[in-house]
Amino acid sequence: YFDSNTLAYLDGAYVKANEASCSVYAQTLHYGYSVFEGIRSYKTPNGPQIFKAKEHYERLHYSCQTVGLPLEYSVEELTEITYKLLELNNLQDAYIRPLVFAGTPNMSLTTAQKSNLLIAVWEWGKYLGDKTLRLMISPYERPNPKSVPIEAKVAGHYVNSTIACSDAKAKGYDEALLLDMNGFVAEGPGANFFYEKDGELFTAPPGSILRGITRNTIIDLAREAGITVHEKFFTPDVLFNEAEAAFMTGTAAEVVGVQSINEHVFSKPYKESIGALLADKYAALVTGCLTPTLEI
Ligand code: PMP
Repeated sequence: YFDSNTLAYLDGAYVKANEASCSVYAQTLHYGYSVFEGIRSYKTPNGPQIFKAKEHYERLHYSCQTVGLPLEYSVEELTEITYKLLELNNLQDAYIRPLVFAGTPNMSLTTAQKSNLLIAVWEWGKYLGDKTLRLMISPYERPNPKSVPIEAKVAGHYVNSTIACSDAKAKGYDEALLLDMNGFVAEGPGANFFYEKDGELFTAPPGSILRGITRNTIIDLAREAGITVHEKFFTPDVLFNEAEAAFMTGTAAEVVGVQSINEHVFSKPYKESIGALLADKYAALVTGCLTPTLEI
């Protein structure tokens, strides 16, 4: 993620990433009390463009407010700092990781009076790779939204993602698919999930999922192409009995096809599915090669 020349932004300065540090007594480190974003910039004919910068930095503000972490930077300032950081690191196609954390030594369980801001950038290929995924329905559920604010991107929530993902890999699968507290399909550890049936798309509604920015973009691209998208609850049996194809979406993963779930292989090859069509549209959109006809 970094070498001796990489710069990161930390609390007002562009610093050498390998020299940046924080206290081992930081509240964040002990309680998973920090929030973050995952953003990408793409090389486009107009230079590097951060895709949906406003939406990501608005979500960072939302996450901060939700867990009571102060954030002293506006969406515009955060965007400006990020462009500068990309330029200093000479990066165009990059992954961007802003982290708002409570770096002050503090062992209490009260919200922080003060926060720190780190922004790191690095080159990162598609997070889940390019090949279609073999998913496993995880024995771990997504956290109950009555226990934690699931729509905020809180570091501590990712313990759930980490153990679900590692468990699926240990059992020979590529990735996990998690259910919500009611047994409905929710999402992956770091990506949203869609399936296709009779030329229409289905995805879990907001409630027990992170409301992905890629998910919203894909819904817009699908509807623009005349494809109906349903946001509704569904159980795993629907995937085994009715779904013809499936895919996952996320900033890091982009759009990636799903080959099978618990060894059940979908009937339609991913390449011929709506997911593959939308993956192409998404790639064109983020690289500035598709002019959206809708304001998305
Ligand atoms: N769900 C979870 C749990 C995630 O971590 C992510 C990645 N941020 C997503 C969905 C996809 O969100 P986005 O499209 O905004 O990256």
